[in-house]
Amino acid sequence: MDLITKEHYEGVNYCQKCGTAIELKTDGENKLRAICPACGWTFYRNPVPVVAAIIINDKEEVVMIKRGLPPAQGEWALPSGYMEIYQTPETAVADEMLEETNLHGEVDHFVGYTMGDNPFYHKVISLCFAMKITGGELRAGDDAVDARFVPLSDLIPVAFETQKTFLELELKRRGLPYKAYCITDNS
Ligand SMILES: [Zn+2]
Repeated sequence: MDLITKEHYEGVNYCQKCGTAIELKTDGENKLRAICPACGWTFYRNPVPVVAAIIINDKEEVVMIKRGLPPAQGEWALPSGYMEIYQTPETAVADEMLEETNLHGEVDHFVGYTMGDNPFYHKVISLCFAMKITGGELRAGDDAVDARFVPLSDLIPVAFETQKTFLELELKRRGLPYKAYCITDNS
């Protein structure tokens, strides 16, 4: 059985509400929690949600972006990003799509999710959606330095193992031969 350990609370030292030094205590469910002794606020460690977009046009080409920032700077990837507090998974992926590719879109279907390790948040949960394009012209934006359509039948390597998994799922769904591969796994 997996457990929450004190390593999961590394760097969690003070209450975010009142600033008192936080204490690690076992709660009523026998789970280790960071609890403020002054105000009772509990810091929960949860997987952080990330969304990724498989944007496919009517020629069965998928949008790949060249990453302008680490991790995997200079490598090709699917548009992706952390979900913000005001977003839903569906609006987050559409916003990320617009920011990085200048394309408007809406969710066509849910592709799948993966769990990944992350140096800052311990665990991220990546949710992938296949997106329909509803407007705009492809142009790299935000932290993407280039963007292009790549045929699903002749994919280029993607930066992250997680995204390779998503492409694999979508290719399988479409009955296309599996050709996705990955060059860097540092998601
Ligand atoms: Zn407090």
